[in-house]
Amino acid sequence: MKILVSACLMGQNCKYNGGNNYNKKIEEISKRHEVITVCPEVIGGMTTPRRSCEIVNGEVINFDGESKDREFRLGAERCLQIARMNQIDLAILQSRSPSCGVNQIYDGTFTKTLIPGSGVFASLLKENGFKVVDLEDLDKEQL
Ligand code: SF4
Repeated sequence: MKILVSACLMGQNCKYNGGNNYNKKIEEISKRHEVITVCPEVIGGMTTPRRSCEIVNGEVINFDGESKDREFRLGAERCLQIARMNQIDLAILQSRSPSCGVNQIYDGTFTKTLIPGSGVFASLLKENGFKVVDLEDLDKEQL
């Protein structure tokens, strides 16, 4: 299987705070499958570290109130192309991210309030017919 994975899950320090979301299960999966890592925010031109972002009325805004929508959507488009070129079978993405979250995102108030919804990249993959799995649902997959 070819699996696209949020780069931070493989230990890359591309999180907004300069850290990562290393996950041992993802590393194990990478030994059995071909894994392609992407960070749509970095690929879209965001620096690391960066201010946290949330989706406010459909637009990506950072903690300082600046729009980062262009960068997020550019990164998502570029990563969609990577998914297409590699003909991935599946994407496994980090939970709750304004780019990668599949099941839930923060509500745009920067108060750590979660709502149902998907990040920009996860939405784009789904709209284009890719199977997208949130990290928190990984145990439901036979991989
Ligand atoms: S955009 Fe995705 S891959 Fe990049 S740090 Fe955020 S959750 Fe990880």
